[in-house]
Amino acid sequence: MRLSRYFLPVAKESPADAQIVSHKLMLRAGLIRQTAAGIYAWLPLGLRVLRKIEQIVREEQDRAGAVELLMPTLQSADLWRESGRYDAYGPEMLRIRDRHEREMLYGPTNEEMITAIFRDSVRSYRDLPRTLYHIQWKFRDEVRPRFGVMRGREFLMKDAYSFDLDEAGARLSYYTQLLAYLRTFQRLGVKAVPMKAASGPIGGDLSHEFIVLAPTGESEVFYDSDFDQFDWQQSELDYGNEADLKRLFDQVSGMYAATDETHEPARWDAVPEMRRRQGRGIEVGHIFFFGTKYSAAMGMSVQGPDGQPVVPQMGSYGIGVSRLMGAIIEASHDANGIIWPEAVAPYKVGLINMRADDAKCAAAADDLYAKLNAAGVETLYDDRDERGGAKFATMDLIGLPWQIVIGPKGLERGVVELKNRASGEKVELSIDDALARLA
Ligand code: ATP
Ligand code: MG
Ligand code: MG
Ligand code: MG
Repeated sequence: MRLSRYFLPVAKESPADAQIVSHKLMLRAGLIRQTAAGIYAWLPLGLRVLRKIEQIVREEQDRAGAVELLMPTLQSADLWRESGRYDAYGPEMLRIRDRHEREMLYGPTNEEMITAIFRDSVRSYRDLPRTLYHIQWKFRDEVRPRFGVMRGREFLMKDAYSFDLDEAGARLSYYTQLLAYLRTFQRLGVKAVPMKAASGPIGGDLSHEFIVLAPTGESEVFYDSDFDQFDWQQSELDYGNEADLKRLFDQVSGMYAATDETHEPARWDAVPEMRRRQGRGIEVGHIFFFGTKYSAAMGMSVQGPDGQPVVPQMGSYGIGVSRLMGAIIEASHDANGIIWPEAVAPYKVGLINMRADDAKCAAAADDLYAKLNAAGVETLYDDRDERGGAKFATMDLIGLPWQIVIGPKGLERGVVELKNRASGEKVELSIDDALARLA
């Protein structure tokens, strides 16, 4: 993409209303624009990052055997009356009336809808287990939307729902998502510690919040520093292997990690003092087993192997896709701007032509840009006629992993400069070598 034809409204100054660094940087780097309280337009550069995060989440859900569908954002109030949540949900639910005075709502989550869809099409135990997911916008009328996309009112969530015949099966579905979450966050370049969460009315040990440590986080967390050595990829584990999944769950449960809601001082005191870590964190994901809460309330049952009706056991599994963008920036930035992990960077390379008014420089930069494109390297090409200093500042601000700088002096010697955004390390090399390094 040529910057001269792009839409990248960057700002020098931090907007006065932004309190945390990720929000400031997202506004300054032209990723988002607020259009109403807690509601954001995704500008071209921000949309690319959002799509990349979404795609990684999708690939890991697919790999774990979950099946994608897409449910609508608008739901009928009647659906929520079936579960009893229409009255229980409270003011976070945005309630709407259509022209026929039918009560509707903008979905804050989808347990009711998925239960109805599954209930209406599944008759037999042979159709279970299944985990279905979608990646869709949600609306919650948060009392205090703040910190940009971290606590928006409209936000993008991946929510998955599992259906099993019995609790043992539901546990396996839960462990499967636990593993998928670890792999997802590892690929996104964030360390999200699975912390025991309050499990609501049905009790049990099956609820975890995935928390990224950050001083601006809204929850107080306590965890064993053994998690710092934890293997997030768990690459030797196999989704089809029950013993593997159980071992992972035992390993996670065996290391202390809790939020203020679930903190157990007695267990905490048993963690060696050297290993106790306490701080603040951001919830980026939440997984939950809730048994037959919705399936029973909404009259879902399938015929079991013995001909008797069985009410499926369910779980739900959320990831805050748009919130993650803020969380990634909180964890990865410096004084000059964002430092994108390569997996979610909007472009891999920023190509800077220092002298757009110099025919030789422009020709060399155009040529390298064409070669990078041909090699499939996602490149943002600053071909504008602007001061070099301003171009550097913009590139650092938007945080692409690599920068290539082409200037007249280097060209005379047949070299360009390659800079790594994260380390700041710069090397001079030939155009061909730069291409070989990045392709
Ligand atoms: P929080 O405690 O931050 O209010 P929650 O517990 O209400 O979140 P869940 O119902 O568990 O949220 O939803 C699953 C995920 O959706 C959360 O882990 C979070 O990543 C994301 N999420 C929830 N609310 C918001 C929001 N207002 N803005 C952005 N993401 C959100
Ligand atoms: Mg909430
Ligand atoms: Mg929460
Ligand atoms: Mg939650």
